[in-house]
Amino acid sequence: MTVPTITLNNNVQIPQLGMGVFKMKDHEQFLKAFQWALDIGYRHFDTAAIYGNEKWLGEAIKKSGIDRHELFITSKLWPAEFDDPKQAFENSLKRLGLDYLDLYLIHWPAPGYQQAWQAMEKLYQAKKIRAIGVSNFMIKHLEQLQQVSQVTPAVDQIELHPYLQRPKLLQYLQQHNIAVEAWGPLGQGSNGVFDEPVLQDLAAKYHKSVAQVILRWHLQRQAIIFPKSVHQQRLQQNFDIFDFELSSADMQAIARLDKNQPNGSDPNSDEFLA
Ligand code: NAD
Repeated sequence: MTVPTITLNNNVQIPQLGMGVFKMKDHEQFLKAFQWALDIGYRHFDTAAIYGNEKWLGEAIKKSGIDRHELFITSKLWPAEFDDPKQAFENSLKRLGLDYLDLYLIHWPAPGYQQAWQAMEKLYQAKKIRAIGVSNFMIKHLEQLQQVSQVTPAVDQIELHPYLQRPKLLQYLQQHNIAVEAWGPLGQGSNGVFDEPVLQDLAAKYHKSVAQVILRWHLQRQAIIFPKSVHQQRLQQNFDIFDFELSSADMQAIARLDKNQPNGSDPNSDEFLA
């Protein structure tokens, strides 16, 4: 099964489903999970310098022998390195053992992101990255970025799940042709969304798990997702979401669950702890 792709605003194709590797802290477990994911059919992997595991991802890619061009690899620039994005990017590439990235993001809209973006535009124009984007940017940050940028971000990677749906931001992104990436698509497994009766009923109705219903909901909202798991069965389950479709009434039932409730840090607060 080949995962459907979304076409970014510069015509680069991104697989709509991938695997995230945040908080994967065990080396052996990482290598195993990567290989399981590859065998299942995952080709898109989302990491970041701050996750501390780019080196393992590079090792896992090399060990697998897969053709680099079959993969879609994302990494992110952490604000502590806003003063020299070129160096930070080269360090990421080196740790990953790659000679280009598919997508590179500004991880957080901390002070200095405008200049960091301009440095990323240069790397993009030099063809070292196929697409550049942002993460955790709210409308106000995107508007400020627009004032100083030549390249529109290809994506905004933001926290999204049934308890945090951000309809206004999504509308803005759509209007500006910026694709949506949902981080924490399952509420990071810790926000109670798995116990939500509406979702449990839908899971029973479609003979799927709650996780699959949530992931399917994201797909039908055109979000790009990369749920994280280190378990083979869950990786498989999170991949088996292309053989059913939620009705529009059921999509609306999930829309009504929005509580505007972030699980992680809230970029609206302007508080940033480097
Ligand atoms: P997630 O919503 O993907 O939740 C992962 C957790 O959900 C797992 O640890 C597990 O407990 C549970 N889970 C996964 N599959 C399941 C299943 N089938 N059944 C039951 N439970 C299941 O959270 P995440 O890992 O934080 O987000 C996904 C990815 O997004 C990350 O790995 C990372 O790549 C990215 N991310 C980005 C940012 C950012 O600031 N840009 C922040 C957090 C995460």
